[in-house]
Amino acid sequence: MSKEEDIDGGKRPHNTELYVDVPRTRLPIVYHPAYNITFMGIEKLHPFDAGKWGKVVGFLKEEQFVSDENMVSALEATEEDLRVAHTKRYLSRLKWSVIVASITEIPPLMFLPNFLVQRRVLRPLRTQTGGTIMAGKLAIERGWAINIGGGFHHCSGDRGGGFCAYADITLAIKFLFERVEGVSKATIIDLDAHQGNGHERDFLEDERVFIMDVYNRYIYPRDGYAKQAIKRKVELDWGTEDSEYLQKVELHTEGTLNEVRPDIVVYNAGTDILDGDPLGGLSISPQGIVARDEIVFRAARRRGIPVLMVTSGGYQKKTARIIADSILNLHRQGLIGPEALEGEGSSAPQPIGSQSSLSVSSVHTSV
Ligand SMILES: [Zn+2]
Repeated sequence: MSKEEDIDGGKRPHNTELYVDVPRTRLPIVYHPAYNITFMGIEKLHPFDAGKWGKVVGFLKEEQFVSDENMVSALEATEEDLRVAHTKRYLSRLKWSVIVASITEIPPLMFLPNFLVQRRVLRPLRTQTGGTIMAGKLAIERGWAINIGGGFHHCSGDRGGGFCAYADITLAIKFLFERVEGVSKATIIDLDAHQGNGHERDFLEDERVFIMDVYNRYIYPRDGYAKQAIKRKVELDWGTEDSEYLQKVELHTEGTLNEVRPDIVVYNAGTDILDGDPLGGLSISPQGIVARDEIVFRAARRRGIPVLMVTSGGYQKKTARIIADSILNLHRQGLIGPEALEGEGSSAPQPIGSQSSLSVSSVHTSV
């Protein structure tokens, strides 16, 4: 780190490769094989499918919606990129394996040398974080973008937790505010089963960001301080089912977008609302998740508001299939797809500070 400035110091944005120009022949779907955490079986100690991101892409490839040639390859967020939201102190703490073990809830990590933790756990999370930031720019340019990973909504600038080590949602929004002219208001629609206390703490006093959050009121993190940041709070009871859930999601998504018209919607599409999820405690069906995603995309796209989706929590074996089905449904409904590229380029706000025209295609080969 060469600079000592405050994270919100109002200085010129740093050089970043995350705002590369992406050819229009690619879909704004961001992914990299490095998203997946595989590490001598240690990932199996966490109650989750640590390869779900690759499986989602595998299903999308099977259906011939995506290929290595038409997706966007995520780049790892650098320390300087991370400093846009994170304090130096927090990033230094991640150099202690015991702290990473606690944040990711994988206790055995505490016994590993930090270089291994960095390589096998934090690098995948930093690559997903880079993916969310990249998808933010793409959403503005194309009207929509999906990061197949990301959605680490329990992490704030100076605190991680609940498997979330980097505040990718905060970062994506701050990058847009700093670098894209005409983007000055963001709305976060957080529909993961858990309260999104990370971005809530980060934007607690920021009037530019409107937060709607729908979550199980009885589960982690129950962060009362962070709740003050929520402008539309929908607290659910144990075992909430499709009809009640979808009705509430539709009512409050429409209400939120009628109340404030943002320049971007960041949609945290956690699938731990699924019936049987060991952590979420809700009873939403696979069809309910597909319908939910459609409600959010329809509401944003109908109003011409760019939407950035991240996949967040939800790690049952069947989760990857449901996420893929939902993305395919969005395509079938005409809410996403190559055709959505047309006629949106000229009026879109122009990114500034884009320093690199690196080709991203070469990264694809490193499966
Ligand atoms: Zn969750």
